[in-house]
Amino acid sequence: MYPETILPIAAHIPHAGTVVPDAARDQFMPRPEELWREIARVTDWYTDELFGFPGIATTETPISRVVVDLERYTDDSKEEKAAYGQGVIYTHDTRGEQIRRALSAQERRLLLDNYYRPWHLQLELNVEQQLARWGLCLLLDCHSFPDEPFAHEDDHGRPRPDICLGSCDNTPRWLLDSCSDLFQQRGYSVALDFPYSGCLLPARYHRDARVPALMIEINRRLYLKPASRDAYRLGNVPTRLDSFDRLKNDIWSIILRLAQEAECRAKADRAGPAAGGVFVGSCM
Ligand SMILES: [Zn+2]
Repeated sequence: MYPETILPIAAHIPHAGTVVPDAARDQFMPRPEELWREIARVTDWYTDELFGFPGIATTETPISRVVVDLERYTDDSKEEKAAYGQGVIYTHDTRGEQIRRALSAQERRLLLDNYYRPWHLQLELNVEQQLARWGLCLLLDCHSFPDEPFAHEDDHGRPRPDICLGSCDNTPRWLLDSCSDLFQQRGYSVALDFPYSGCLLPARYHRDARVPALMIEINRRLYLKPASRDAYRLGNVPTRLDSFDRLKNDIWSIILRLAQEAECRAKADRAGPAAGGVFVGSCM
């Protein structure tokens, strides 16, 4: 059975969740209000809505990244953020304060087995099913980021763009250029691989031309009111700006255009040069 999709897209949205499961709560040292403030700082708020285009395959989770960060290597020695206590299992907050007690090997394994592995299996399944259905899967790694860098980040004093696009070995030039042009045509500033870089995909599709991939990161200044103490009170969520719906519409229309171009180019590739390459260069 294929998923009920109408576009050959798999989107993964790893950082929209805010839940700390009861089973993991005793691992955290701060009081609930303090932990919530940190969750509010690091959550990619509302990205599940911003990228939740109907008819694509999404991989999402309600679990907060402070519990397990799904976009990190499980091996801390490969993960540069582990140096700041923010590897796959956070031990420190964005201000450098310790927020978690030491975990046993079994506690760590349980977290990975319960949250990390199922999420990655779901992502792989979504890609595989999209490939089975469409012969193509445009993979979008979907995030948002704060306008101000965190203490440990190295771009202080350098203005951040509206949109950051991250590339990897699976990112063809056309995908980067088209996505950048489409955002700029709608008035957004775009930077490539700044302030964040790369994009995540299941290892088995590395360099697989059927799986073009791109990371799209949205600056939270475009859709959230500036952080206030109120917004960070326990359970309170940041307030959206009135521009939220317009931004969502822009993202959805761009996603649709990218899917159309990906399909067009895949068709041209299948037709090959013998067919005159009629689609090449005329897909958008
Ligand atoms: Zn993120």
